[in-house]
Amino acid sequence: MKKARSKIHQSDQGNDDKHAPQRTCVGCRKSLDQDLLVRYVLSPQGEVVVDYRKKLPGRGVYTCFDYECIESAVKRGQLCRSLRGGDRPTASELWQVLHAQAQCRALDLIGMARKAGQVVSGTRQVLTELQCGKEFGLLVRAADLSPTIAEKVDRAANRSNVVCFPVFSKELLGSLLGKSERGVVALKYGSLAVAIQNELERLNKFAGEFNG
Ligand SMILES: [Zn+2]
Repeated sequence: MKKARSKIHQSDQGNDDKHAPQRTCVGCRKSLDQDLLVRYVLSPQGEVVVDYRKKLPGRGVYTCFDYECIESAVKRGQLCRSLRGGDRPTASELWQVLHAQAQCRALDLIGMARKAGQVVSGTRQVLTELQCGKEFGLLVRAADLSPTIAEKVDRAANRSNVVCFPVFSKELLGSLLGKSERGVVALKYGSLAVAIQNELERLNKFAGEFNG
């Protein structure tokens, strides 16, 4: 997998969107673009809930999309204090919710890209187009591709200088695109490809936290 952008620090990513409002992470106290942070609100039942799409009404509190920040905020009771109530969630509960939300969001966005005609799919089709010099914004390849094919796809992505994420199953990618199975999905350049890459970079963080 190409990891060219995965090391970029969050504070560097907001450069192309200078107008986004700034919010403070209650874990590390850094001020960042609101878009880069996770929002939490108090539900009507008095629970601290993740407001991933930042659409729920009421007072919001923010953390980085980072386990350490969430853990630090939870440990110091910052979420409940800033929200003025609520049961104290555990950091791992919140982290699991975030994992699910990031997955759903990535899948939604791939579905939207398909509807917008921003997708080329199928291992052979994508490899052929890459060989012909076609440029893509992003490749998503199924995590359960056979190692030989996976290597071929990764090499082709590398040669074409396009980021390639191994994620989801062939079946899941296929079902998003109305096919039985799809090994590779290529996204054309554009804002959807950027948004999908952001979610997949978020998803990459989970492997490190629980297995590493
Ligand atoms: Zn933070």
